Parts: sequence; structure tokens; C-alpha cells
Amino acid sequence: MNLIILGAPGAGKGTQAALLKESFSIPHISTGDMLRAAVETQTPLGKKADEYMSAGQLLPDDLIVDLMGERLNESDCQKGFLLDGFPRTVGQAIALDKMLTGNQKEIDAVLNLEVPEEVLVERLLARKRADDQEDTIRERLKVYHAQTAPLVEFYEKRGLLKSVAGVGTIEEITQRLLESVRN
Ligand code: AMP
Repeated sequence: MNLIILGAPGAGKGTQAALLKESFSIPHISTGDMLRAAVETQTPLGKKADEYMSAGQLLPDDLIVDLMGERLNESDCQKGFLLDGFPRTVGQAIALDKMLTGNQKEIDAVLNLEVPEEVLVERLLARKRADDQEDTIRERLKVYHAQTAPLVEFYEKRGLLKSVAGVGTIEEITQRLLESVRN
């Protein structure tokens, strides 16, 4: 099962992905987690990523595409994966397609968590991550609408999109996601 989870910052992608990975026995691949680890250990990528992340901006597509190209080639991804935080631009989605077709693979479903904006801001303010300061949050939401939201239509046109309400308890949302993948 090759899955993507989409949603605005604060939609609950990371929380739900960590649960879904158990249900499908596939690795949860979060670009945000990979980048935060690189920032922590001060790798060359981490040093570059830090500037973009603290400004609430996306890293350039080529950097992320290279990172994911390597990650998806690792052995644990050969039987499926759940992508969280990638793709985040149409350019990244096209690059992902190329990577997958080159390996005779395809995306099975794109799960889209829908959450009202005021709930997103409330959740992000409650979460004390380094890039969860109020002005950075606003910037990340702006960037989401401008650069990532077009992916909803991109995957809808291909018949891959499964939109689910991302409000309620964590368990309720997980159930909705599991049902939407099974249908
Ligand atoms: P996340 O944990 O997915 O919200 O990601 C945190 C930050 O990492 C984002 O605000 C971006 O600065 C950076 N980032 C994560 N994934 C990507 C991506 N696919 N493309 C560009 N930047 C990314």
C-alpha cells in the first residue's frame, strides 16, 4: 500500500500517520521529522533547512526531491509507505510520479484531512514546536494555501483523493481514514 496523507499544518497528519503505519505495516515517512533530525545533528542539509523552517517557508523542491528519492529506495519502502509532508508542491508531486513510475510503482490513495482554519491555529498554538510561533504559524498556513492546497485538485482529478473530516477524537479520525482506504 503506497499512501500519502495531505492536510494543512495542524490537521493531524503526523498523529494519524503514526497510527496508520501500524494498521498497514508500512513505514511512516515524514519529511518534517527527517528535517528536524537533520537540524538537530547539524548536518549540511540541517543547516540549510533550519533557515527555511524557522521562517515557515518550504525548502526548495530539488533538495526535498533528492532526500525523498534516497529514502524511497531504502529496503523498508519496497512493500509500501505512508508519506507525510511530501509532496507539498505540484512540482514535488510530479517528481514523485516520475520516481514511482521508474520503479513500476504507483500511489494507491491520497488521504486528505480537512480541518477548519480556526481549529488549525488553536492546535498549532497549543503544540510547542520551534516553528509554532504565532507569526510562523500564519506564514505556514499562507504557504499551505498557496503551494500545497493545489495538490487536493491534482489528486482529485486522478481519482485518488479520499477526504476525511479531521475533527473529533483521534480514534474517530483514524477509523474514518481506515474506512476511506478500504472503500
Ligand atoms: P512539517 O513537520 O511537515 O509541518 O514540516 C515542517 C517544515 O519542514 C515545513 O514548514 C517546511 O519548512 C519543511 N518541509 C517539510 N516537508 C517539506 C517539503 N515536502 N517541501 C519543502 N519543505 C518541507
